[in-house]
Amino acid sequence: MTKMLVAEDLSAVGGISLSAALPVLTAMRYQVAALPTSLLSTHTSGYGRPAIQDLSTWLPAVFDHWMAAKLDFDQALIGYVGSVELVDLLHKYLMAQQVALTVVDPVLGDLGELYSGFDGDYVMAMRRLIQTADVILPNVTEASLLTGLPYAADPDLAVLLPALQKLVKPGAHAIITDVTRDDLIGCAWLADGQVQYSGQPRLPGHYNGTGDTLAAVIAGLLGQGYSLAQAVPLANQWLNAAVAETLAENRDDERQGVALGNLLRAILALQAS
Ligand code: ATP
Ligand code: MG
Repeated sequence: MTKMLVAEDLSAVGGISLSAALPVLTAMRYQVAALPTSLLSTHTSGYGRPAIQDLSTWLPAVFDHWMAAKLDFDQALIGYVGSVELVDLLHKYLMAQQVALTVVDPVLGDLGELYSGFDGDYVMAMRRLIQTADVILPNVTEASLLTGLPYAADPDLAVLLPALQKLVKPGAHAIITDVTRDDLIGCAWLADGQVQYSGQPRLPGHYNGTGDTLAAVIAGLLGQGYSLAQAVPLANQWLNAAVAETLAENRDDERQGVALGNLLRAILALQAS
């Protein structure tokens, strides 16, 4: 079994980030090391101010123990980290490891704004971390923050993607994740210098956890040997199915992350084929 380190926040209530990545990657037959980068009572969207446990003294001890126990990982998926100190700690840990495929979702902001609590130093730390990545998955806002290019909801991808590529190591891929084209939402990346796009119809509403789930799906498929051109359209299709299932549930609480039943069934069907 392939061992994957997944490092991101664990929000007890809300069904996003680590809570969503675990079932997705388990269904893909990964052996997951689930490393919370911080503990929250709920995610940060709609529940008021969550109780947050800072893990910055625990995480260095975790890495020390893993080194002493000679534990290592074939793959890594890094999501929300939370502080410059922890971003640098993860950077240092990843640099010392032989990880065959590192996927970084450089969580910094959305809708043109940095998430609260983040500043320019945090963006700089994220720029250092993405140098360890084989694939980065910024949304449009994060792509603008990382490159320093002005934010536009509908950016010129032929400018933004090459600027992102300059921030990652040779051979690594930058995929922008919430790209709108007509009535589609999907992802854009470069292949042989040309902008590629894969999208699915944008369904009504805004959903929590779609970005985290998309990152887990893409990391999982790439690790199984699917190419970007195969993995990204499949991931968009599955996320569309997750949003469609969520809509069909007519939920009375829209804060919970997207429904994963259809997505997990699609994963298991693919694994069985
Ligand atoms: P986040 O906002 O969670 O940090 P993100 O900004 O990177 O993540 P999202 O906007 O959540 O990305 O979108 C991630 C993916 O989820 C999209 O590329 C798309 O495949 C799917 N998705 C998100 N919202 C919708 C929607 N309303 N309808 C259909 N698919 C969606
Ligand atoms: Mg978004």
